[in-house]
Amino acid sequence: MTNKAISDFKLGVLGGGQLGKMLTLAGSQWGLRTAILDAGQDMPAAPVCQEFVQGDFRDFETVYRFGKTVDLLTIEIEQINIDALEKLEKEGVRVFPSPANLRVIQDKAVQTQFLIDQKIPKPDYLTFSSPAEIRQAIDAGKVRFPFVQKLRKFGYDGRGVRVIRSEKELPQLLEGETMTEDCVAIDKELSVIVARNSSGEVAAYPAVEMVFNPDANLVDYLVCPAEITPAIEKEAEMLAKKIAGALNLIGILAVEMFLDKQGKLWVNELAPRPHNSGHQTIESSFTSQYEQHLRAILNFPLGSTATKMPSVMINLLGEAGFSGPAVYEGLKECLAIEGVKIHIYGKKETRPFRKMGHITVLDFKRERALEKAKRVRQTIKVKA
Ligand code: ADP
Repeated sequence: MTNKAISDFKLGVLGGGQLGKMLTLAGSQWGLRTAILDAGQDMPAAPVCQEFVQGDFRDFETVYRFGKTVDLLTIEIEQINIDALEKLEKEGVRVFPSPANLRVIQDKAVQTQFLIDQKIPKPDYLTFSSPAEIRQAIDAGKVRFPFVQKLRKFGYDGRGVRVIRSEKELPQLLEGETMTEDCVAIDKELSVIVARNSSGEVAAYPAVEMVFNPDANLVDYLVCPAEITPAIEKEAEMLAKKIAGALNLIGILAVEMFLDKQGKLWVNELAPRPHNSGHQTIESSFTSQYEQHLRAILNFPLGSTATKMPSVMINLLGEAGFSGPAVYEGLKECLAIEGVKIHIYGKKETRPFRKMGHITVLDFKRERALEKAKRVRQTIKVKA
């Protein structure tokens, strides 16, 4: 794309959630026009994009028709109709990440096999079509407690994942096409976001550390930089870059990893799009993950991934026990704290643990950012 054409350029995005919203905002800085396809009426991206098309991004015809109206198509969610993207690509529409990458990533068993083929450290896995088959495999000694069971497709935010520790927990097994994998004794959960453009330029952000909310199985807060040794940091970066290269990726890729109690890194899963673990890049990095994704898919030079300042990112989740029109408590108190950046996604209705926004807390000192984040966590509440 020439620089001159940028304001005439129409970017299509499948999905109009918070990631679509922030991607659109990054594009508007360059005057990009963005069209979004999503089934929901009150999607976070709707008020900020130039065109909002209501429709199901899992439906072939809907995605195909939408794709024909844009110059380049990208995604904010992987659970979209890949058949339509393949047809669009064959007909000359640029689709990034590529449908071939999406085929590998959408099915967790295919993704796992791909990583194993690339000699990326991954726990052993098996695939199953029903809980009965898993019980048989346990009886035959092929699956041992504790293990993790995952839906092969369409799981997100921890829904679709079960950690099964003993016989007693077997009634919790998920139905349908699933995979099991060995349980990793996790010390830290890390994420590295890596970008690659079609010229083959690759850049990775420093690893961030994700701390989970055990009730919601969602990231509770995320700390940048991660507290890891330089050797682990280097290895995490190398793994992320190796995967991006092996995929021939164009765009950004979040590589979720586990650091186990022995100090070994394992790759958990991949997401070829802007990711929850990269929100803090908006304020704490030279280049936000959203701008970086646009640079990658438009084949511009990649931006610096250097960190300007340590940060803690807090997901603003709907408070347990409240459903209905959202009310934000404690906003003023939090805004009074230096370095607190509040993002409200604009979802009208709150539900327990629904992602309603996020807050990035900045400080020159990592420890002070953590202290401020703790105060913010106790003060801000989303109720109805
Ligand atoms: P989702 O796609 O829904 O985010 P993940 O595969 O990331 O699902 O799993 C959600 C969480 O489950 C992880 O963040 C981790 O805490 C736990 N988990 C997943 N796989 C394993 C594993 N092999 N060993 C231990 N814990 C795991």
